[in-house]
Amino acid sequence: MHVLLVGAGLSGAVIGRCLAEQGHKITIVDGRPHIGGNCHTQRDDKTGVMVHVYGPHIFHTDDEEVWNYVTSFARFQPYKHRVMTTSQEAVYSLPINLHTINQFYGKTLRPDEARAFLETQADTSITDPQSFEEQALRFVGPAFYEAFFKGYTEKQWGCSPTDLPAAILKRLPVRFNYDDNYFFHRFQGMPEQGYTPMIEAILDHPGITVHLDTMFDPAAISDYDHVFYSGPLDGYFDYRLGRLGYRTLDFERFTDQGDYQGCAVMNYGDRDTPYTRITEHKHFSPWESHEGTVCYREYSRECGPADIPYYPIRLVKEKALLADYVALAEATPRITFVGRLGTYRYLDMDVTIREALDTARMFLTHATEGSAMPAFAISPL
Ligand SMILES: Cc1cc2nc3c(=O)[nH]c(=O)nc-3n(C[C@H](O)[C@H](O)[C@H](O)COP(=O)(O)OP(=O)(O)OC[C@H]3O[C@@H](n4cnc5c(N)ncnc54)[C@H](O)[C@@H]3O)c2cc1C
Repeated sequence: MHVLLVGAGLSGAVIGRCLAEQGHKITIVDGRPHIGGNCHTQRDDKTGVMVHVYGPHIFHTDDEEVWNYVTSFARFQPYKHRVMTTSQEAVYSLPINLHTINQFYGKTLRPDEARAFLETQADTSITDPQSFEEQALRFVGPAFYEAFFKGYTEKQWGCSPTDLPAAILKRLPVRFNYDDNYFFHRFQGMPEQGYTPMIEAILDHPGITVHLDTMFDPAAISDYDHVFYSGPLDGYFDYRLGRLGYRTLDFERFTDQGDYQGCAVMNYGDRDTPYTRITEHKHFSPWESHEGTVCYREYSRECGPADIPYYPIRLVKEKALLADYVALAEATPRITFVGRLGTYRYLDMDVTIREALDTARMFLTHATEGSAMPAFAISPL
């Protein structure tokens, strides 16, 4: 079959590779001048620092097949992600751990003591938390909520945490030990030469042709047996029902000499600091050494028509509109919507790859059986 993939990010690359390996002819178009989608990395000309162009990307997963997949296309270096936060004129380690608790409250508690102490801080009158705020107050109490969650969340989501669902803060965001590894996952690392060469290697197959600087042309659909679309779901339908809400990010880039902040990511929890965090990219490649340094000050705001959509909002209003777009998509033959934009979900890279592999395998099964591939391999609702 001749298959068109819209988007040369992880979704497009993994699906394309899987189908090309089974003998299908793959054409990929991407409107940007580079492959890699939002995972794109590029070495800064002046400093030599590897920059995560669309924001920091750390690879972490428990999925062994996905880990074996990425490490077969790129050499990975061990990387442990640590996040610090500046709040109320002090610097703390996140996620909240025993060090954070002892530093914040000026104590020397051991794990069980800290657990009991935090329970005295938590608002136990909240028995069935409904909002993000109630969930945080129930878990960690007002002092930690103010310092670490309230201002940051208001800046990140542009609304009060009372308007966000409790489900956003799923688990107790506290560790009662000194483990400051930001992620729990078994496999963590960073591709030695960045993500773009890894995705280039995935795309490097004689059955795959990539056209950059090329927007998807709906008139071309009839040239293909099937289309996988990793662009925005509402964009495919020309936003005819309205726009699905996203947050976008503005990165204020600056350079310096030496080490600007001593860590990869410094959050800013206070509401009166307008940015959410500063990322210093050289710390994502601790095995390299550079005199200069490249940093991004990150601001979050509502996504306008000309902005890059980053984080889907997915509150009640957006989910209703999403359901209408899903119905439109399901009535459209020979196209499958994939990836973070095509299914309007936040997806970590490992989940993106897992879903792309499963989607490609599902397509191969349908092709063998002669049955129609659905509009979604994974429901966005
Ligand atoms: C700020 C931020 C930080 C993140 N950090 C992490 C992290 O630390 N760890 C982690 O695991 N994941 C992280 N992620 C998630 C990661 O970025 C995604 O998993 C991944 O980018 C999804 O790949 P994709 O191919 O689905 O989408 P994308 O990377 O968005 O690729 C879609 C591609 O389609 C192209 N396209 C869209 N519409 C059209 C069109 N009409 N015509 C032609 N081309 C089109 C776009 O140009 C783009 O290149 C982060 C995401 C964000 C937003």
